Amino acid sequence: TTPGGPRAREEKIVVTIRLRPLNKREQSSKDQIAWECTDDHTIEYRPNPHERVVQPTTFMFDKVFGPDSSTETVYEDGVKTVALSALMGINATIFAYGQTSSGKTYTMRGITEKAVNDIYMHIINCRDLLNSESGRNLKLLDDPEKGTVVEKLVEETAKDNQHLRHLIHICDAQRQVGETALNDTSSRSHQIIRLTIESTLRESSDCVRSYVASLNFVDLAGSERASQTNAEGTRLREGCHINLSLMTLTTVIRKLSVGKRSGHIPYRDSKLTRILQHSLGGNARTAIICTLSPASSHVEQSRNTLFFATRAK
Ligand code: ADP
Ligand code: MG
Repeated sequence: TTPGGPRAREEKIVVTIRLRPLNKREQSSKDQIAWECTDDHTIEYRPNPHERVVQPTTFMFDKVFGPDSSTETVYEDGVKTVALSALMGINATIFAYGQTSSGKTYTMRGITEKAVNDIYMHIINCRDLLNSESGRNLKLLDDPEKGTVVEKLVEETAKDNQHLRHLIHICDAQRQVGETALNDTSSRSHQIIRLTIESTLRESSDCVRSYVASLNFVDLAGSERASQTNAEGTRLREGCHINLSLMTLTTVIRKLSVGKRSGHIPYRDSKLTRILQHSLGGNARTAIICTLSPASSHVEQSRNTLFFATRAK
C-alpha cells in the first residue's frame, strides 16, 4: 500500500441483524413471534409464559432492523459505508448469513441493486463483472499478481448501470437451487457477485491517484446443518462442503474480529475463504447482515445465527 493511500486495517466488522416478518406458512401454522427489536441496536427474545427461558435473551449489534425496515434502510444505515469504501481502493465484502428462508437472498438482491446504483452515482468507470460459467467445479489457481483466482471465470466489463444489472440478473438465474424440506426453492450454494472497481481520485490540484478494489456481495448457503433438512446422498455430500466453507468462514471471521494480527487465519481451508481472502483480511472492510425468522418454531436456528453474529463483532 502507498503511504497515505487507502487503509482499513483496524476497522471492525460491521455486524447487523435483519428480522423479517412472519411469512404465510408461519402465520397459518400459528407460529408465534419470538423476537423483538427493542431499539436500533438491540434484539430480545420473547419467551412464551410457560417456557423455561434459556439465557441470554438480549443481543446487541451495530444495527438491528425489525420486520418493518425496508432494504433501503438496511443499505443506507447498515452497509453503505462499507460498500462505498471500494470506490477508494479498499476491498469490501458484504455477507448475508442466516438459516434457509430467513431472507438472505431477498436482502442481498436489494443491497446489490442499491449499491450498484450508488456506485454509478459516484463513479465514471465500473469494470469487470465476474460471471460464472455453467461449470460446477471450477478450480482455484494461485496467480502471482492477482492472488487466488477462479479458473475459466468470465469477466465482463459493464458498459453502464443497466448492463451491470443485466449481468447480475444472469448470475441470479444461474444459481444452483434445489429443493429441501425447509424451503422449496432454497439455495444450497454460496453466491459471490464481485465487482472490480477502478477509480481515479483527484486528491489535490496536482495529484491524481488510481485505485483498484473488489466489492463482493455474498449470499451464503443456509446456515442450518445439512442433517436438519433431511438431506441425503449427493445433497448430504454437498452439504458437507457447504458446511466446511461456512465453518471456515466462521473461524476466519472470528479470528479477524479478535484482531487482524491474531496469528494464523485459515483462509486456505475452504474455497469460499480462499476466493475472498484479499477482501477479508488486510486492506479490507467487511459487513455482515444476519437474517432471522421471527418465528418461535425457528428459535434454535435464530439463536445460532445470533451467536455467530456475536462472535463476529
Ligand atoms: P434465504 O435466501 O435466506 O433462504 P429468502 O431471501 O429466499 O431466504 O426469503 C424467503 C422468503 O421470505 C422469500 O419469499 C422472501 O421474499 C421473504 N422475505 C425475506 N425477507 C423478507 C423481508 N424482510 N420482508 C418481506 N419478505 C421477506
Ligand atoms: Mg437464498
